[in-house]
Amino acid sequence: MRLLIMGPPGAGKGTQAKAVADHFGVPAISTGDIFRANVGQGTPLGVEAKRYMDAGEYVPDEITNNMVRDRIAEPDAEQGFLLDGYPRTLAQVTELDGMIDATGHQLDAVLVLTVDTDAVVGRLLKRAEIEGRPDDTEDVIRRRLEVYAEETEPLIEVYATRGLVVSVDGMGDIAEVQQRIFDALDSVPQS
Ligand code: ADP
Repeated sequence: MRLLIMGPPGAGKGTQAKAVADHFGVPAISTGDIFRANVGQGTPLGVEAKRYMDAGEYVPDEITNNMVRDRIAEPDAEQGFLLDGYPRTLAQVTELDGMIDATGHQLDAVLVLTVDTDAVVGRLLKRAEIEGRPDDTEDVIRRRLEVYAEETEPLIEVYATRGLVVSVDGMGDIAEVQQRIFDALDSVPQS
């Protein structure tokens, strides 16, 4: 199973990504988590990425693309994967198409979590208190939502044209949303 999960910051992608990936027995690959791990370890990639992340901007495509290419080439992703937070730009869509084509496989579905914007800002501010992520301040949250609307939301249309979008209401408690996701994805044929 090769899946993407999309939705605005705060839609609950990370939480649901792990459950969905476990369900299908594939790794959940979160670009945000990989960047944060690199920031934490002070790697050159982390030092570079941090400048953008702290401002709510996207890390340049070239850096992100190379990182994802390496990650999905690892053995645990051979049977499939769920990407969380990638692609986020049109250029990343094209790159990902190339990466998947090269393996002779195809993308099976793009799960889109829908939420309302006010709820999202509230969730992110609450997460800021709990996790202390440096990009969860109110200004940066607003910027991240803006960048999402400009750069990433249009990708949903691209995947909808390919007939890949599975839209799920992301409002409600975690278990409820998870059940909706499983119901929606269980009818997707696996390649
Ligand atoms: P969010 O809660 O905003 O969805 P993520 O944990 O997915 O957060 O990502 C955090 C930050 O990491 C983003 O704001 C961005 O700076 C960077 N990032 C993650 N994925 C990508 C990507 N595909 N392209 C560029 N930057 C990315």
